[in-house]
Amino acid sequence: MKISEVRVHPISVPLETPFYFSQGWVHQRSSVIIELITDDGQTGWGESLCHGLQPPQIAAAFIEQVFRSILIGADPFDVELLWERMYNTTQPYGQGGAAVNAISGVDIALWDLIGRSVGKPIHKLIGGAFRAEVQPYATGFYRIENGNYPADAIVEAKSYIDAGFKAFKLKIGFGVDEDIAFINAIRDAVGPEMRIMADANSAYSVGSARRLIDATRGANLYFYEELLAPEDLKGYRELKGFSSSRIAAGEQLFGKQGYAPWLEARALDLIQPDLCSSGGFSELKKIAALAQAAHTPMIPHVWGSGIGLAASLQFIAALPSLPLTLNLVEPMLEFDRSSHPFRRELIFDGIEMQNGKVQIPAGPGIGVEVNREVLEQYRV
Ligand code: CA
Repeated sequence: MKISEVRVHPISVPLETPFYFSQGWVHQRSSVIIELITDDGQTGWGESLCHGLQPPQIAAAFIEQVFRSILIGADPFDVELLWERMYNTTQPYGQGGAAVNAISGVDIALWDLIGRSVGKPIHKLIGGAFRAEVQPYATGFYRIENGNYPADAIVEAKSYIDAGFKAFKLKIGFGVDEDIAFINAIRDAVGPEMRIMADANSAYSVGSARRLIDATRGANLYFYEELLAPEDLKGYRELKGFSSSRIAAGEQLFGKQGYAPWLEARALDLIQPDLCSSGGFSELKKIAALAQAAHTPMIPHVWGSGIGLAASLQFIAALPSLPLTLNLVEPMLEFDRSSHPFRRELIFDGIEMQNGKVQIPAGPGIGVEVNREVLEQYRV
């Protein structure tokens, strides 16, 4: 089995209702879908994440300009060899960002090919499933023009509760005083049982973040996400000592090299690598091992299409809980609730929550099939 064709599909769709978060307005959702075809007629699918405002053409260019020539003629089973070759080739101008986003997508497609060729889901190839289903948390609370906050967010929170969610994540980062009132109002509205997280998307400095944490202690958040700039390791270390709620980050860290200093410094209570951005299966397995050695749990970041969602579920299935004990603290699935046609239609029926849980796809590879019509419809 040799790779004979590398197809890159940058996809994009304007949003019916544009929204904003702390870093700007989002008018479209984009992604990069990777399709690897072998000389014996097999197809593997992968995805490179486009972060909030990221154009899909950047990661696509890495694959088309650099990785295609590495991949053509290669055996997909040489997946780690290919990972190292892609990383090393782009090292002078890569090491993170779109370069590693692109490697991640290719790596997922290689693992999908391996899984399809042996007829097994990827979680069976990377160690087996610690769980057959995972608890999702709803990611939403994006702000829209003329929105009324916190009133609109309380309505949204109650819709998640009605749908069966036991956990959700707020968007914050709109000013410390506004965030404090917002978080406390949501907690008051939904009661003490819901698991609530809050994501600032790097909106604050340490002083502001400390004030936010101090004034929301009563809301008992499960974690605060990306309160600080993604480079501020020492700042996160300070917050970790100050907050009784978990301090989380990691969607803007890349590969084992990116994570190693953070884990060694114990700068975070919880790390959030994204399978489609931080390195794919090959590298996230290594990041997970580093995290286990540093006694730091992981709840992956998930924000892509149905392909990324299915692949992330394969990875989460194989992620050990930390610590392994009778009363496990299980990883969760980040389940984006924004309007997003790639999440459902791209993989036909989509992946949905049932009885408060999301099942790990059991089919070969990533476990879902891709709808080519949808792919063509949204191609850039
Ligand atoms: Ca986030």
